[in-house]
Amino acid sequence: MVSGEPAGLRWGALLALGALLLAVGAAPAGAQPAPRIAFAVHGGAGAMDRAQLTPEREAAYRAALEEAVLAGYAVLREGGSALDAVTRAIRLLEDSPLFNAGRGAVLNAAGAAELDASIMEGAGLRAGAVAGVGRLKNPIEAARLVMERSPHVMLIGAGAEQFAAEQGVALVDNATLVLPERRRELERVQARERDRSAADAPQRPEKYGTVGAVALDAQGNLAAGTSTGGMVNKRYGRVGDAPIIGAGTYADNRTCAVSATGHGEYFIRTAAAHSISEAMRYGGLSVSEAAAALIHGRLADLGGAGG
Ligand code: ASP
Repeated sequence: MVSGEPAGLRWGALLALGALLLAVGAAPAGAQPAPRIAFAVHGGAGAMDRAQLTPEREAAYRAALEEAVLAGYAVLREGGSALDAVTRAIRLLEDSPLFNAGRGAVLNAAGAAELDASIMEGAGLRAGAVAGVGRLKNPIEAARLVMERSPHVMLIGAGAEQFAAEQGVALVDNATLVLPERRRELERVQARERDRSAADAPQRPEKYGTVGAVALDAQGNLAAGTSTGGMVNKRYGRVGDAPIIGAGTYADNRTCAVSATGHGEYFIRTAAAHSISEAMRYGGLSVSEAAAALIHGRLADLGGAGG
């Protein structure tokens, strides 16, 4: 999240502790205060399996996040918009095979990559989203096109792909988004599901690899974006929180910018991103208080997890 709170120059990296997050911001310095800008990206939440996380793999995650956060921050430093910074960083993370977005996304029960994404800006509360798309390499780009070049907020499936193609986006074969390790992951999860006795409680996924970004630009505008393949072995046609404005993504210049990751159904049911914004606006909470109240309070009480 990014809010109007003082930022200072700071780097934060939390890996395996619950979130893959990198943030950088600059506060006014000297007599002539420069406009304050801030940028943060995430690459999902949840505990990463230390046994699987070799030093090389951890370094690769950190490098990809660092590249994305610096690319978005560079846009802001050059006077670019929060929307451009968010779009640029998320595109990079979608292109990285490490994250659950774009190429490398988790697979649905039918073995296909089925992607969701959304973007929002905080000045005019404009927003765009695509859901259930399988032929777009960069769903965040299509979400932005929906926002800027259509009268709608969300397009789904083949209609979203057709719209993107009409706007000049090249459609790709779904197979180009599918990685062999994601296929093996799907097979593992499906085998586990088959083995589970009916009496077992449904297992909660232990890791989420969605990507997202939030930005505050020099004009004082906020933006947020989120992109994901959703959850492994999800039912064909399932839509998570990421493309739902107010659930996985929200930005309002009066409060904050939010990009969520976690068990999407709970983020939809708690209108998570919008709830955080409204807790600030009407409840007078700080951004961290509002986020903590939602994540450790209402969401956890329902049995949901995420960040
Ligand atoms: N929130 C995403 C979803 O439920 C999953 C994730 O964050 O990894 O679709």
